[in-house]
Amino acid sequence: MVKCMNCGHDNIEMAKFCRSCGSPISLTSAYILNCTINGIKNIS
Ligand SMILES: [Zn+2]
Repeated sequence: MVKCMNCGHDNIEMAKFCRSCGSPISLTSAYILNCTINGIKNIS
């Protein structure tokens, strides 16, 4: 999930805009989140 920087709503990773408030979702934050998820998968 990608958290909206504006309202905190959890959006799907592919979302370009927040489904709650319509703010653009930062691609950078989505990238970091995916790296974190992949890292957790690799560890476990
Ligand atoms: Zn939002």
